[in-house]
Amino acid sequence: MQLIFMGPPGAGKGTQAQLLAALWKIPHISTGDILRACVVAKTDLGQKAQSYMDRGELVPDELLMDIVQERMNQPDAKSGWILDGFPRTVPQAAFFDRLLCDVDGAGGSNSGKDCDLRAVNLDVPDNVLVTRLLSRGRQDDNEQTIRRRLQVYREQTEPLIEFYRNREQLVAVDGDREMQEVTAELQKALSGDS
Ligand code: AMP
Repeated sequence: MQLIFMGPPGAGKGTQAQLLAALWKIPHISTGDILRACVVAKTDLGQKAQSYMDRGELVPDELLMDIVQERMNQPDAKSGWILDGFPRTVPQAAFFDRLLCDVDGAGGSNSGKDCDLRAVNLDVPDNVLVTRLLSRGRQDDNEQTIRRRLQVYREQTEPLIEFYRNREQLVAVDGDREMQEVTAELQKALSGDS
């Protein structure tokens, strides 16, 4: 099972990704969680990333690529994973395709295009997202940052939906429902693909 979770901030992708990863016993890899841990630990990377995160901007692609490459090469990521919050830009998606070739060690015969990668999009209207995010209370969940994160999502991440749809790897699910309903729908949509 190789899954990418997309969707705007507040769509519930973190929650759903975590639930399904526990159910399927595969790692839940959240680039936001990794970055927040680096910020808390005050690593070099954390110090570079923090100002972008606080402003609701994306952290530069190069920093993400190193993080993801290192994480995907860990032994627990061999038999599948759920990636939550990556890729978020077209260059990240292109990098990820190349990385999948290397991780599989198949000498280029297997890429993101050929493998059984699925990209899940959780669709939720903006007004619901803002309400959800404001009630979450994370450090980057103030109104100004929320608005910027939504704008960044529409500009930089939404084009990936078309990218994966064109490759017939997109699974689109309505995320504006009770959490359990969304989980059930995701299980149904993804079953038989592992
Ligand atoms: P998240 O927890 O996924 O909402 O991510 C929180 C913040 O971390 C985002 O607003 C970005 O600043 C940063 N971030 C997480 N993943 C990425 C990514 N793939 N590319 C760039 N920035 C990211």
